[in-house]
Amino acid sequence: MSWIDPDFPKRATPSDRVGRVLGLNPGMMTGPGTNTYLVGTRDPILIDTGAGMAGYLGVFGEYLAERGWRAPSRVILTHRHVDHIGGVKDLRERFPGLPVAKMIHKDENLPEGTADLRDGQVVRGEGVTLMPVHTPGHASDHLCYFLEEERALFSGDLILNGSTSVIPDEDGDLADYMASLRRVQALRPQRIYPAHGAVIEDAAGKIQEYIDHRLDRERQILETLGGGARTIPDMVKIIYADVPEKLHVMAGKSVHSHLKKLGKDGRVSEEKMSPAPSRWTLL
Ligand SMILES: [Zn+2]
Repeated sequence: MSWIDPDFPKRATPSDRVGRVLGLNPGMMTGPGTNTYLVGTRDPILIDTGAGMAGYLGVFGEYLAERGWRAPSRVILTHRHVDHIGGVKDLRERFPGLPVAKMIHKDENLPEGTADLRDGQVVRGEGVTLMPVHTPGHASDHLCYFLEEERALFSGDLILNGSTSVIPDEDGDLADYMASLRRVQALRPQRIYPAHGAVIEDAAGKIQEYIDHRLDRERQILETLGGGARTIPDMVKIIYADVPEKLHVMAGKSVHSHLKKLGKDGRVSEEKMSPAPSRWTLL
């Protein structure tokens, strides 16, 4: 199954307490599109809103009708990226007064009246208890939501199904990201509802796979540096030798996120050569 799966169902009911409507925004970054989840046995809480694509509200309305529901009770967001927050405006036009909350952190231009939601500030709905878990790394304001009744984790973009998470240069942080993975690992979820891709039934296995992937990459970078490569482009050529060159810019960003973490760990140092690429040295 490819990452951008055109046959990914637009709506689904993965459990008694959880419904899913697809954001209809497929792409390289989003896979089949952003999942938006309706949580609760009635008056559901909506987690994320998609990108604001035309057509989303139609599918959303069909799903509500199918379940015999009139409206969502409130919206809670995993983070500020447009493919999660972009549907707020249309939803509020369709459902006037709909409350919206997220962890407000380094935010600008949030939809008016967005309420702050903090780590541990439990959100209750019909038959559901959602615990927000601050999980920075992909984005500094990122919250996962732990559904206590199912021991399930709404992982936002911390964990995806079918791709790895991006650690953006400005707002991302790989050290935070690794800490966030370990934090959700400690919650021992049984199932993961990711913001992109299908439900993950083996939560423990997937979290470990994500941790191992980053540790392997870190090891490779240290080896490559030890082997004499000094700049990110040189490292990418070696580590990503079997990846098409058009993806090397993205790969370089990933290597940079690792080097920044290794710098904080005191294991490498950076010599800025701007505009030429920095030279990195093992300590
Ligand atoms: Zn994101």
